[in-house]
Amino acid sequence: MNYTTGELAAITDSEIFGNPDLQVTAIAFDSRNIFSATGTAFLALNTAKNSGEKYIQHAVEKGIGIIISQTKLSEIDGVTWIIVNDSLKFIQTLAKHHLQKFHLKTIGVTGSNGKTVVKEWLYQSLYSEYNTVKSPKSFNSQLGLPLSLLKTKAEHEIGIFEVGVSKPGEMATMVDIFSPKIGILTHIGSAHESNFESQSQIIAEKIKLFSQSETIIFNGDNHLVSNAINSVYSGRNLISYGLKNHNDISVQTFGNKAEVKIKYFDEEFLLPAQQRDDATLNNALCIVAVLKLLDYSTDAIIQKINALKPVEMRLESVNGLRNNLIINDYYNLDLDSLKIAFQFINEYNKTEKTLVLTDFIESKNLETLYQHVAELTNQQNFGHIILIGNDIVRFKELFNAKVSTFDSSTQLIESHSLNTIENNLILLKGARKFEIEKIKDHLELQKHDTVLEVNLNAILHNINVHRTFLKPQTKVMAMVKAYSYGLGGYEIAEFLQHHHIDYLGVAYADEGVELRKNGISTPIMVMNPEQHSYEIIIDFDLEPEIYSFRVLDLFYSNLIRKGAEEDYPIHLKIETGMNRLGFTEVEIDELAARLAKMKVKVASVFSHLSSADDPDEDIYTKNQIKTFNGVSKKLAAALGYMPVRHILNSSGITKYSDYQFDMVRIGIGMIGVSPDPEIKKQLRSAVAFKTVISQISTVSAGSSVGYNRRYMPEVDTRIATIPVGYADGVPRLIGNGVGKVGIGGNLYPIVGNVCMDMLMVDVGNANVQEGESVTLFNSNPSLELFANYCQTIPYEVLTSVSRRVKRIYIKD
Ligand SMILES: *Cc1c(COP(=O)(O)O)cnc(C)c1O
Repeated sequence: MNYTTGELAAITDSEIFGNPDLQVTAIAFDSRNIFSATGTAFLALNTAKNSGEKYIQHAVEKGIGIIISQTKLSEIDGVTWIIVNDSLKFIQTLAKHHLQKFHLKTIGVTGSNGKTVVKEWLYQSLYSEYNTVKSPKSFNSQLGLPLSLLKTKAEHEIGIFEVGVSKPGEMATMVDIFSPKIGILTHIGSAHESNFESQSQIIAEKIKLFSQSETIIFNGDNHLVSNAINSVYSGRNLISYGLKNHNDISVQTFGNKAEVKIKYFDEEFLLPAQQRDDATLNNALCIVAVLKLLDYSTDAIIQKINALKPVEMRLESVNGLRNNLIINDYYNLDLDSLKIAFQFINEYNKTEKTLVLTDFIESKNLETLYQHVAELTNQQNFGHIILIGNDIVRFKELFNAKVSTFDSSTQLIESHSLNTIENNLILLKGARKFEIEKIKDHLELQKHDTVLEVNLNAILHNINVHRTFLKPQTKVMAMVKAYSYGLGGYEIAEFLQHHHIDYLGVAYADEGVELRKNGISTPIMVMNPEQHSYEIIIDFDLEPEIYSFRVLDLFYSNLIRKGAEEDYPIHLKIETGMNRLGFTEVEIDELAARLAKMKVKVASVFSHLSSADDPDEDIYTKNQIKTFNGVSKKLAAALGYMPVRHILNSSGITKYSDYQFDMVRIGIGMIGVSPDPEIKKQLRSAVAFKTVISQISTVSAGSSVGYNRRYMPEVDTRIATIPVGYADGVPRLIGNGVGKVGIGGNLYPIVGNVCMDMLMVDVGNANVQEGESVTLFNSNPSLELFANYCQTIPYEVLTSVSRRVKRIYIKD
């Protein structure tokens, strides 16, 4: 895009203060991701959760001279302001106007699953014949769609954009800014989508996208979809695809191993299909439909389908040798995804950075392409850039850093130059054919098949679900005690800090010190300030929970000794019914009297609910809250100021949100656990405990399996041996048929005694193979179900997964 500030104001009917002739070529809405201020305007985006106006100052410090905002902040001057009525509407109106200037063929993709894969595959199939623009990643929201549309330029011939809706009514806004000529509806899942009452409602909402579409291509396996489209859009060119026979495009037979027979109206042909799971086949049929519509020959289509590359949608970070942090970005390599990868790595604290970058998939206009790549890269302060591939190395002069070049990933590994990198963040960004995972394997600390996989986006999603119960100004403390409930140390805290969590809570001083040493600057409350740790608490700016007179006096004398008592933040714990730690009601006068003589600042006063997750204890819980309210008010009166007050834990947030006070403390809810089934449905599982099958052996009836011969199958069967045992945190009591593991979506019983490092599973005649992935817990079995097998609660399961199980962190 390229508009002057005056044009932006005119297009969106906004007021302008300042210079109307400034050029705007990019709009940033996250001040942390401003890499270059020239030509960039900062949009202070207001959402239900946050106001971008808080970050205007930061944007200006980064050199931004154009601010688009709902309010004009008088304290900031020297910038040009565009004052808008509604910040989101602004970008939507602009995108609508922008798109209307061009005459490109538009394809809009909606549905519940498969949108991104279909969009990426269409792009892979079309870009060599058509100059094509597409949404980056899964940018499909009320904000993502307009940002995608703004990427359109005059030279584009086809635009493929994803459109997502999360609640009824949203599609009206979307279709107003973007009405595709070709509409695609991918799979509609049967799963309940929160905010919608029924599947029919979901379908009715999604198909509104097609109000101006000439052709509608849809997955017709779901009869509700077929019926809806046929009745609403009877006059249009309708093309259905799916696995069922009645579709215009369908799978006829599964031919030999590598091919399936496809019916396209009256024509039949063989399509390559090594991967033949339903989702992949459906997506491939959809590509066939579009290519046929665009008059590709059957031969050309077969070639295109053959060449499709899987679309990985995740970014993985793992600890490497020599204290490196390795970020492997599996997304396809194109300019947009490079930009997004650069945004991601800004979430990490490492100052020294190395980039490994390969040839892009594109083969046209290399000069311009790599000029852009270098420009983008040069804003990032990489100390070392390693280029791989014949194309990109020709442009090495464009990169400002120490540059090394290689023909292939193998050549790089064999050169040993990776072995000298230490203390770096290493970003691996490569096109699929370069097999850049080899480099990751080479750099990784330990390689284990058994991993605890933590999905950081799911954690954020879960926090946001809890936030819907809170007022915008209520603060959130994330409990990251006990190694973040077993999920990891600073990795989670770092991610939460980046997403503006207000407070972190740890159990012991050491845990807080560990976070500080890894660059966490968010305030940290220590719940168990042991007396020998007061000194490091003060040295590392940690904030103790003070629960008794003994602790108060001891801590204060340490503050005095260090001369740090002035306004030192402390947190007072009130005992209201847990009977664990805290000041009781009768101690409050004495407490206030002692505090009056001290110079510390009571940052917060809080209590803890014993039974917020127990529906039978509602009265007890409300009494705890009532006591807390009374005691904290009394304390505030004596102090002469009101500290931040908090009592709710995760289940409290969703059940007792009337009593949120000024802050809440979220723990297990972040991980996706809730006692309330309605809430649970909205949460995502943020942790998966996974391994792979080491061996499968055939065991005949009457022989025995494992220590003490505790399992003797009555019929011949197959036993899968799995490399996790009680030393990994899988308790011995789930052996002998008590617990089950998930393989290929089905559950199989753990048989015999669980060993220290292994356990055995009876897989019978099921089609499972050595090396296949095994789930101890994730979605099936769920963490809750696994905890049931273990006769305990999810908290204990998570904190029992031993440290030798590698934690990996993904963002999807
Ligand atoms: C652990 C803890 C929490 C979080 O509890 P969840 O049930 O995991 O949400 C909150 N407050 C205190 C004091 C805690 O110790």
